[in-house]
Amino acid sequence: MTKIDPDLKKILKEFSHDYLLKRQESFKGLDFESLRTELAELKDRVLAQNGKYLLQFEEKARSHGSQVLRAKDSAEANRLIFEILKKHGVKKLVKSKSMVSEEIGLNEFLLGNGVEARETDLGEWIVQLARERPTHMVMPAIHLTRKEVAEIFSKHLGEEVSNEIPALIRVAREELRKEIFSAQAGLTGANALIAENGAAMLLTNEGNGRLVSTIPQVHIVLASIEKVLPRIQDADLLLKILPRNATGQALTSYVSFIAGPHRGAQYIVLVDNHRSEILADSKFREILRCIKCSACLNVCPVYQILGGSQYSHIYMGGIGSLLTAWIHGLKESKQLADLCLGCHRCEEICATKIAISDLIVALRERLNKVLGKPFWKKIVFDGVIAHPPLLQGIFHAARVARPIVTERLGFARKMPLAMKKFDRFRSFPGIARKPFSQSFEENFPSAKEMETEGSLILFAGCLIEHFYPEIGLSASRVLSRLGYKVKLGPAACCGFPSANSGFSSRSKQAFERLSAHLKEEEFIITLCPTCATMLKHIAPQLLKSEKARNLASRVFPFSQFLIQKEKERISNLFSAQPCSWRVTYHDSCHHKYFLKASEDSRRLIQMSIGKEILEMESSDACCGFAGIFSVSHPEISEALLEEKLVSITSSGAEIVALDCPGCLLQIRGGCHRHGCSIVVKHTAEILAERLIITSGAR
Ligand code: SF4
Ligand code: SF4
Repeated sequence: MTKIDPDLKKILKEFSHDYLLKRQESFKGLDFESLRTELAELKDRVLAQNGKYLLQFEEKARSHGSQVLRAKDSAEANRLIFEILKKHGVKKLVKSKSMVSEEIGLNEFLLGNGVEARETDLGEWIVQLARERPTHMVMPAIHLTRKEVAEIFSKHLGEEVSNEIPALIRVAREELRKEIFSAQAGLTGANALIAENGAAMLLTNEGNGRLVSTIPQVHIVLASIEKVLPRIQDADLLLKILPRNATGQALTSYVSFIAGPHRGAQYIVLVDNHRSEILADSKFREILRCIKCSACLNVCPVYQILGGSQYSHIYMGGIGSLLTAWIHGLKESKQLADLCLGCHRCEEICATKIAISDLIVALRERLNKVLGKPFWKKIVFDGVIAHPPLLQGIFHAARVARPIVTERLGFARKMPLAMKKFDRFRSFPGIARKPFSQSFEENFPSAKEMETEGSLILFAGCLIEHFYPEIGLSASRVLSRLGYKVKLGPAACCGFPSANSGFSSRSKQAFERLSAHLKEEEFIITLCPTCATMLKHIAPQLLKSEKARNLASRVFPFSQFLIQKEKERISNLFSAQPCSWRVTYHDSCHHKYFLKASEDSRRLIQMSIGKEILEMESSDACCGFAGIFSVSHPEISEALLEEKLVSITSSGAEIVALDCPGCLLQIRGGCHRHGCSIVVKHTAEILAERLIITSGAR
């Protein structure tokens, strides 16, 4: 069970807002997409020959007088560092920020062996004084307020310290300098190891890295093996992206290339710690492209709610779950892997294009295989969803019981026992009186006569079939008005929920059942972005078949189809006169980030209402639905929904439009539970309601 700290949530939200503005400014004039593609390709090439470049680096570093040591795991890395310190009689080690030292638990190990290890990065020093762990890879003390930092400093000094920034900085500077000048050894990390010249590249903003690496007699560089880059020009590419993506700075204040000892001795400890296993795994290898810029954390909705103390083992967020699985073990990553919503926001901003959410799904699959499937997921995916007649029977029973369990407004009364999680913070919709497939047959009995522009298949998805048939009917109305003969796709699960939970064999079965009914040579129009993601992206990857690829090429989200294929004719269906509706738009995660169809929906809505949409703040912030996530993590889902409702109501709109039936369930249910009068509509409903009335139209 995760616990939400409202103060932390506020800090992280404000930080994320400011970060995104700074980042956008810092990338002005640069093409982020092509830069990160170049960096991802470079990292892939280097990872493929990691051993060769490491040897080259070692040779060059030795030629500068450095001693290079290899550590296969945490225990060996700690032992090697301790032996170095013992050899030089070191009693105090000062450190600049190093995530690898956190990974191997160096401070605790040294303390247990009589060596004091002191952090000198301000954030790291603060968390060390507070006896906590870093909660962010770039800003370790991001979770603490100024007041809390002042209290930590006061306790450390035994005297009152003001919480004004200049006072805090003065204390830190004086204290840290004392630490650095009294230490016999300094330890730094490395942002890159340059193979052609044997230099370690170090980026800092406080200058502590330079002091730590030059003032004590002994300097240790602690770096993981994937940090190697072949040439100095490659570091240039890294420098273009890393500071901008990390903190929105064009460059960090200090960029150092350290080649050889400055005073006494220099040691370079290269840590493997299961990275060779990652390198050998073709599926997961790309996680070693990570440059620890933390941009993925800064946009992750779950990180923004929980922070790094709950959404981490040592490494944080989605990428942290993946690294943890390999470095600290599958067991440690189990809970973390479950926390990802699958929103794809991290992938949009990742400096090296790591497919974080796809890999988390692959990790869930591995977790299920190695550690066993969670009991309740086995019931849902192996027991119910895998057996369509049983699932249909459950829906049929719910329909029979509908008059007893559903309120007049179409929402269920209180949910029973195990289902309680569904409606803790939102009302759950009552099942529709008739499934969409039945309503369609009744409303479009003469579909055969309507064929003028060809036929297409409408695949509505489960939520529309059983809960929101009006959305399916609206889409059918719009497509029919364009002259298409609309045929109904099967009322069956697309397979996404099973795939997303790591039950890929069940997902394949579901997709194969479905695809048997989707005739070739016809467009397949979807009304649910999650179904579209399954059909267009996941199925071809899972099945690796020509049939799946062919089907994927025929799938279009409803709004994308209208804009790409019917842009000219669709505008004729609406009045040019602006209507009185005040409409805002919520970007559903898959619709925006994966299908890239949000702007198409906006254009269509604007066309249909004859005026601009009232944009809400953070229209792309996740509403917290994410399928079973809202059941397994209701407290996070609720927090995200609350934020979304504030954005919607502050927009001044009376209608919120969206494209995902799941988001509709969440937001409509939240509005109902909070007594909010905002009307929630699918884009198809808005378009259908705005169609010019013509004689004989449905
Ligand atoms: S997909 Fe979304 S929830 Fe998952 S790690 Fe990425 S940003 Fe976070
Ligand atoms: S996963 Fe990508 S965005 Fe996240 S820290 Fe690594 S490189 Fe940066």
